[in-house]
Amino acid sequence: MYKTKAYSAASPTSSLIPTTITRRDPTEHDIQIEILFCGICHSDLHQARNEWSGAMPTVYPCIPGHEIVGRVLQAGTAVKTFKAGDLAAVGCMVDSDRTCTDCLDGLEQFCKNVTLTYNFPDKHLGGVTYGGYSDSIVVDERFVLRIPANINLAGAAPLLCAGITTYSPMRHWGVTKGKKVGVVGLGGLGHMAVKFAHALGAHVVIFTTSANKKEDALRLGANEVVISRNSDEMKKHAGSFDFILDAVSADHDINAYIELLRRDGTITLVGAPEKPLAVAAFGLLFGRRSLSGSPIGGIPETQEMLDFCGKHNITADVEVIPIQKVNEAYDRLLKSDVKYRFSIDMASLRSE
Ligand code: NAP
Ligand code: ZN
Repeated sequence: MYKTKAYSAASPTSSLIPTTITRRDPTEHDIQIEILFCGICHSDLHQARNEWSGAMPTVYPCIPGHEIVGRVLQAGTAVKTFKAGDLAAVGCMVDSDRTCTDCLDGLEQFCKNVTLTYNFPDKHLGGVTYGGYSDSIVVDERFVLRIPANINLAGAAPLLCAGITTYSPMRHWGVTKGKKVGVVGLGGLGHMAVKFAHALGAHVVIFTTSANKKEDALRLGANEVVISRNSDEMKKHAGSFDFILDAVSADHDINAYIELLRRDGTITLVGAPEKPLAVAAFGLLFGRRSLSGSPIGGIPETQEMLDFCGKHNITADVEVIPIQKVNEAYDRLLKSDVKYRFSIDMASLRSE
């Protein structure tokens, strides 16, 4: 075991503060990674503040962070895929049972014994796993991803959650040329969704509550921008969407979007608001529409997404911050004031 620096929350109401944590020494299948950048996902905030107390109660101290890119410090003797000095990435999962049908299908996110990157039972050290707001991490090689050489590292970090969480449902629901696709909420996930839907050839409409994001939305690849608080603008799109991805972090009226689906259209929730959303039955019944959800994505598809990003030169639009500004960043997330992902430069932790 060794000690490493990190930032942690001690309770739902406390700020994140510097701390020291223990990591395991790498076993023969492990890779030890020096973390260079870690994105800030709204899930980090939900979890640090115990907003998912029903489904995933937070164990304190909590060290968030699941959008990790870094450089390999050491690779165990049995590791074949990485060597010291290679770039490497880690997303929302660090282990699973590897034997169930979900794992065998490469869909580890559905494994009943998945280990998420933070706030999940740690098989090695006991207690819970600690995430990427830290100097280094030790992860089994099967859960370590390759980053294409041509992409910017600070902008690559958010691909590990915001990227795969939006790419996966679009592939699953057949987003392609000729489809009309809506994206609700232009935050970290939403802006990646716009980029992917555009790259996949769809006609993309972004729904935002922030009128000041209109120009950016068009630059990111949206064909149309709808200010969702304007009901006349919303009505113009009634019954016209093949697919809508809802990436909103807070309570909102999902029925307004269900009404915009065409017959047999699907709306997929990736946003995970603290409180349940109310769904009006008739919106779904008339039009045989579907409401679904999607969590992150499996390891093979995450690598596919990273390779897709390398090929299409896609990264997140990031505001790089030092770790000392993490609490300020959380406050800004709650005001929808991020363009469009915070990426923590982890060198700031080492120089503390
Ligand atoms: P984010 O960057 O904070 O973006 C959320 C966006 O939602 C905001 O930028 C805003 O967009 C919109 N929004 C916020 N409050 C709103 C309100 N009251 N009414 C309507 N719109 C509102 O968050 P994120 O990191 O993209 O995460 C989004 C959600 O996805 C979070 O709940 C997160 O936990 C969840 N998530 C789920 C998965 C998964 O596996 N399914 C993975 C990662 C994250 P506009 O300014 O454009 O309106
Ligand atoms: Zn996330």
